[in-house]
Formats: sequence, structure tokens, C-alpha cells
Amino acid sequence: MPAKGVLVAVTADVVIAGGGVIGTAIAWRAAAAGLDVVLADPAHGDAASLVAAGMLAPVSEALFGEGALLRVNLLALARFPSFAAELEQVTGHRVGLRREGTLAVAYDAGDYAALTRLTAFRRSAGLEAEELDSRACRKLESFLTPDVHGGVLFPGDWSVDNRRYAAALREAAASAGVRVVRDRVTAVLTAGGADGAGGAGARVRGVALAEGGEIGADRVVVAAGSWSGAVHGLPAGLRSAVRPVKGQLLRLRHPAGLPPVLTHTIRATVRGADVYLVPRADGEVIVGATQEERGPDLTVTAGAVHDLLHDAMSVLPVTSELILAETCSGLRPGTPDNGPIVGEAGPGGLLLATGHYRNGILMSAATADAAVACLTGRAPAPEWEPFGPGRFLTGEGVP
Ligand SMILES: Cc1cc2nc3c(=O)[nH]c(=O)nc-3n(C[C@H](O)[C@H](O)[C@H](O)COP(=O)(O)OP(=O)(O)OC[C@H]3O[C@@H](n4cnc5c(N)ncnc54)[C@H](O)[C@@H]3O)c2cc1C
Repeated sequence: MPAKGVLVAVTADVVIAGGGVIGTAIAWRAAAAGLDVVLADPAHGDAASLVAAGMLAPVSEALFGEGALLRVNLLALARFPSFAAELEQVTGHRVGLRREGTLAVAYDAGDYAALTRLTAFRRSAGLEAEELDSRACRKLESFLTPDVHGGVLFPGDWSVDNRRYAAALREAAASAGVRVVRDRVTAVLTAGGADGAGGAGARVRGVALAEGGEIGADRVVVAAGSWSGAVHGLPAGLRSAVRPVKGQLLRLRHPAGLPPVLTHTIRATVRGADVYLVPRADGEVIVGATQEERGPDLTVTAGAVHDLLHDAMSVLPVTSELILAETCSGLRPGTPDNGPIVGEAGPGGLLLATGHYRNGILMSAATADAAVACLTGRAPAPEWEPFGPGRFLTGEGVP
């Protein structure tokens, strides 16, 4: 029962806390599967989904020791084109999926040695990678500096315009019947259970909102990105499992008359520092990104803008001709093992879909499939098995 004096104004089959790409993709697919869905988000505009570069890059993101993450990222990449095609068909809007591939370039011999080591590892994992000398790199991208030492083409790494994609998801969700509540979820509410406080046997009965109301639902999805741990009622261990990892990024535009300066996404290492440049069909070029452990800080710093532009201009000097249209900063939802947290935990009916860290745009479609499988009593794809919330549970009950 709701607390005395609290109005349960809205009820649904499922309430989703968080309207970034993860929550909205789940909302759309859950509604399309016949569930009555309410999505709650205060919409303060800080979502990482609107800051991201939109790379769909399982191969160039693959690192030593992250085999399970690579497998789920490959699942996500394979799912993305059909998901995006359906989204475009439903909404009539293009989401800017680009499949030209990613060219990783190394600025000096030390950078090239590091790239070669990573490429050998990626090849050993069965991933496609074509090594290119400096001249071959410039044949693919004529504006690259001749100083580039060499590079590797990863044809399997694509990109999407994440802002167009997020907007299309919102539109598709609305047309599938998802209702949106502009408020912050403060707590997952439970009923039953041996201790009456969300312990063994308890089930969710909805969520409490910051402005005082409640939404009644017997399934709750927490998809609040790097803010997920602020939702009360999550089992112990999960509230601290997600931390914000700050990323600063620049949006550049072509001035009138300048032809497109890039076709492929470029990932460059410049004297040990990583920078990427992601071209969009509409002439935007994204330059990113810093990776900083600064808690919830979202400031844009002069040093970051300088470093990103300096490194971008080192490999693509024509960057200096582009218009600096926007500087922005976002919070990646990081986890201790860099993997997402997707699955059921705690009271019956509670599902987590968070912690997507550097790959939330890439993983959004596959996460929606996994979440809707859980919500409709089916098993998610086996690639998700290592990424359940159970790996972070501390067994201390609900705080
Ligand atoms: C600089 C940068 C570059 C990136 N580049 C890429 C990339 O190239 N490719 C890629 O795949 N990923 C990239 N990412 C990562 C990607 O952006 C994230 O993994 C992804 O956006 C996470 O989506 P989300 O929906 O979980 O979180 P968010 O997009 O952060 O959305 C969370 C939402 O929850 C809402 N919210 C917060 N608290 C509550 C609450 N209590 N109740 C209700 N709602 C709440 C917020 O208002 C927000 O709208 C990048 C991130 C950054 C910062």
C-alpha cells in the first residue's frame, strides 16, 4: 500500500527510471512487446547519451583481458543495423549510421609499437584488422598529416549520430505508447518480504518521485546511467557499483565551402595520448575525449579543449579550419570491471540496466533486447551472462 497521504497518480506494467539511450531503448521495445510502460526522467539535459561520440567500436575498444566484454559488444554491433533500420522506419528520421570503418593511426614509432601490440591481440581474437603504412593511410584520408607513422583499418567499427539516434528513440517510444513523467525517481518501493524492508521474498510495487508522487508498477527498471546508485532500494553493493567517469568532447563544423575532411572515424595516438575524430554526414566532426575520475563534475576546462585540439591537429592539420561549435562534458557510467550491469537483482521485479561506461550507445539495442527478455520471462542472450548484477552484490540486504 502507498504511504498515507501519497497519491499513486500513475500505474503501469513497468516503470523505467532514466531516459538516456538505455532507458528509452528499453521503453520502446517493452511497449512494442505489449507492456504498458512509464518512463521517469527529470530531463535536466545531462545525459551522457547526448554528449557521446556515437562510435560503435567493439574492435578498437577491445583490450587485453576483456574477452567477455568484447563478446557482448560484438553481439551489440551485430544487432545495431536492424534496430536502427526499424527505428528509422517507425519514425521516418535518419539516425546517421556510418559503416566506412575506423582508421587507427599512430603518430610516432612508440605509438606505432603500442598499436601493433593491440592489433596482434585483436587479430588473435578473430577480429578484422588491416595494417597500413603512412601512404596507404593518406590514400584513405587525404587530409592526414604525412608525419603519421602508420595505421590499422578496422572495417568492423562504425558510428551513429547519437543525438539523432536518441531523438528517434524518444519519438518511437512515444508512438509505441510510452508515457513520460518529468520527475526523478528517489526510491524503488517494495511490498512483502520477511523483514518488511525489501528483504527476502519482497517484490517491487513501484517507485517514489522527488516531487512527492509515486508510480505503481510490479516491474521497475533502473537505467539512470551514472546516477543509478542514487536510487534508494537497490541491494547493497549495487549502489556503489556505478561511478561517473567524466569525458570532455568538442563538436566542430565545416565552414561553408570546405569539403568533408574525413570519411572514416580516426582514432589516433599522439605521443601516448589518445584522441578520436568522428565525422557525421551533416558536416559535424566530433573530437574526443578526456577520461577523468572527478566525481560528478561537468565543467569544461581550457586544458582539455587545448589538448584535444592539439592532438587532433597533429594528425589532421585541417582541423584548425573547422568551426568550434560546441564544447561539452558528460559522465560515463563506469563499473569496477568496465562491464555493464544488466539483469534482475534484489526484490522480485527489479531490473538493472546501467554501467555501460564507454559503450552505451553501441550496447543500447542489445541491452533493450536483454531487458525485454527479462521483463517477459525469457532468458537474455548468453553473452549477457557475465554481466548480471549478482557480481556486485555484497549480501548485506537493502540499505
Ligand atoms: C565524452 C563521452 C563520449 C562517449 N562516447 C561513446 C561512444 O563513442 N560510443 C558509445 O557507445 N558510448 C559512448 N559514451 C558512453 C555513453 O554515452 C554511455 O554509456 C551511455 O550514454 C549511457 O546511457 P544511459 O542511458 O545509461 O545514461 P545517460 O545517457 O547518462 O542517461 C541517464 C538518464 O537518467 C536520468 N536520471 C538520472 N537520475 C535519475 C533518477 N533518479 N530518476 C530518473 N531519471 C534519472 C538522467 O536525467 C539521464 O537522462 C561516451 C560517453 C561520454 C561522456
